[in-house]
Amino acid sequence: MRTVVFGCAILSNESKASYVWLLRSFLEAMKGKQPKSVTTDGDLAMKSAVSIVFPDAHHRLCSWHLLRNATVRVGRPGFLRKFHLCLMGDLEVDEFETIWTDNVADHELEDHLWIVEMYAKKHSWSNAHIRGKFFAGLKMTSRYNLREFVEHFQHYLEFMRRRELVADYKFAYGEPVVKTKLEAIEQFAATVYTREVFKLFREVLMLASNVRVVSTKRTSACVLFEVAMYCKQRSWAVSWAEEDDEFSCSCQWMESFGLPCVHMVGVLVYLNMTTIPKGLILDRWAKRTKQPRAPCDKTRVGEIPDAAYMSMHAAMLDDCRELVSLSCWFFEDYVDVKTRLAKERQSLRDKHRQRLGVPEEASRVSVRDPMRARYKGCGRRVVTS
Ligand SMILES: [Zn+2]
Repeated sequence: MRTVVFGCAILSNESKASYVWLLRSFLEAMKGKQPKSVTTDGDLAMKSAVSIVFPDAHHRLCSWHLLRNATVRVGRPGFLRKFHLCLMGDLEVDEFETIWTDNVADHELEDHLWIVEMYAKKHSWSNAHIRGKFFAGLKMTSRYNLREFVEHFQHYLEFMRRRELVADYKFAYGEPVVKTKLEAIEQFAATVYTREVFKLFREVLMLASNVRVVSTKRTSACVLFEVAMYCKQRSWAVSWAEEDDEFSCSCQWMESFGLPCVHMVGVLVYLNMTTIPKGLILDRWAKRTKQPRAPCDKTRVGEIPDAAYMSMHAAMLDDCRELVSLSCWFFEDYVDVKTRLAKERQSLRDKHRQRLGVPEEASRVSVRDPMRARYKGCGRRVVTS
């Protein structure tokens, strides 16, 4: 699981209209596919825009911003410790309620406006209430301010693209070494999951031997397993609809992270299964999701093997870095190089399109500029008579 940047934007104001334009442009660029979840810093205009443009997405407040606000507005270490537990802890809803109520009472914060507001928004930030909503473990927005963002963006983007290239290379060559004693299912996971996701699955598999099946009960629709972790009291209910080979667990880890939880994997092991049921392998984490790229990559690099492609890529990046640095010293050089590069780029794009047989219209995305909005500090319009 890696961060992928689909786009970025700098807005001239923080109005609802601007956010709506931004999110609609994103939606257009993504061919209408809405995200499952959105994390923001809690800005009201942004929240409202998210509910207009992505009505089906679950909105989560950024945990870093929440902790910072808690420190600024309340700032008592005892309170912050428990607040952190309510925010990040693997709690049930009743446990959350008890800890929250006691914490607020202990620090006499019942009438504190921010506390009242946070409690009302608990479905947007507490792990206990978010359980089952897909966030793949993401809890934070970016912490950069504008200057840092501009400074770091290109560098970070380059870093991520290079890392993706390395991941693709590792994916194409060799299977990971089996590490657990549950060889068959681990081997199977290595063939279906991408390498990064497989490593996460293997960690879950390693814990599966700590799962105890306390009881089993057969109903007309499924088999119910009551499971608990070794030396732990708390139990979880795993259900298995045998006919459709469908699993679910009361911890809802699968719904939140897209990977089977340790309880389900414990039951798979208990049932002596050597494969992972289809329903537990999300397309986004599956190797086959990457496979359609192969013919495209072959066309791109022709007869050149991937390893050579990677070293060419690295060498080209070094050349480009120097070119950028030299051409930005003088404005005339900058204009000259930029014009020549634009021509080269267009000619290469055309070549690629022809090789891949992609029509010109399909390669264009029609995202337009937003309506101009007036905002605080943008100056007054001079009216002359
Ligand atoms: Zn579970």
